[in-house]
Amino acid sequence: ILRIEDVHKSYGALQVLKGVSLTVQPREVVVLVGPSGSGKSTLLRCINLLNPPTKGRIWLEDQEITAPGVNQDRVRQRIGMVFQEFNLFTHLTALGNVMLGLVKVRKMRKNEARDLAMFELERVGLADRAHYYPAQLSGGQKQRVAIARALGMDPHIMLFDEPTSALDPELTGEVLAVMQKLAGEGMTMIVVSHEMGFARQVANRVVFMEGGVVVEEGTPQQMFEQPVHERTRVFLRNIT
Ligand code: ATP
Ligand code: MG
Repeated sequence: ILRIEDVHKSYGALQVLKGVSLTVQPREVVVLVGPSGSGKSTLLRCINLLNPPTKGRIWLEDQEITAPGVNQDRVRQRIGMVFQEFNLFTHLTALGNVMLGLVKVRKMRKNEARDLAMFELERVGLADRAHYYPAQLSGGQKQRVAIARALGMDPHIMLFDEPTSALDPELTGEVLAVMQKLAGEGMTMIVVSHEMGFARQVANRVVFMEGGVVVEEGTPQQMFEQPVHERTRVFLRNIT
């Protein structure tokens, strides 16, 4: 579903991605790990064209999305993105936040948008909080609203950038449970996370990045139990 080929990204003289190649199959869950500054967020931002690569090519389904003249808004609609910060509109309820893109981007009528937004809130277990404002929700609930909002756009792939790292430990479980459920429903996902329990249980593949390159990738079992590279072993040992 996604093919990344020799992607480079520089900010001025700073080379952040130095030739990353990665293929993601439909329904696959890839957990991306690596030290701070290794380029994980940059890679996700390249994929959704928030920050296009300086070199290299990316295909989403049958389309090369890095080709000149591609409609970037259309590409982004197929890619759901969830960040560490939830970025909800504080003046809108949970329902209002999920409805917004449905009305503005998907051009749905209000009634239709409301029904779909309720459905997505149910999916993340928040039907009973639909009329709450972000200030009245816990961090875990806010993040689940952000996931519902992304799902409303009917994405073909979901990218998560440390979705639980801003949360108190007791709230991470509810967010990971929603993500696990999505994985079970067959959603294709790339997840940047240091939650190794989630990686072991849910990931089909773990990818270890360092210094702007993919050092090693494999099944969780290979990566945790018999990594080929010393760097991988040291990194994973220190976060698990
Ligand atoms: P973390 O685990 O801390 O989130 P990361 O692997 O996500 O790290 P990135 O955010 O991709 O790392 O950053 C990689 C490098 O790129 C860092 O050195 C960072 O300072 C630099 N960088 C990221 N965004 C920009 C930008 N917009 N302009 C300049 N440099 C940037
Ligand atoms: Mg990051």
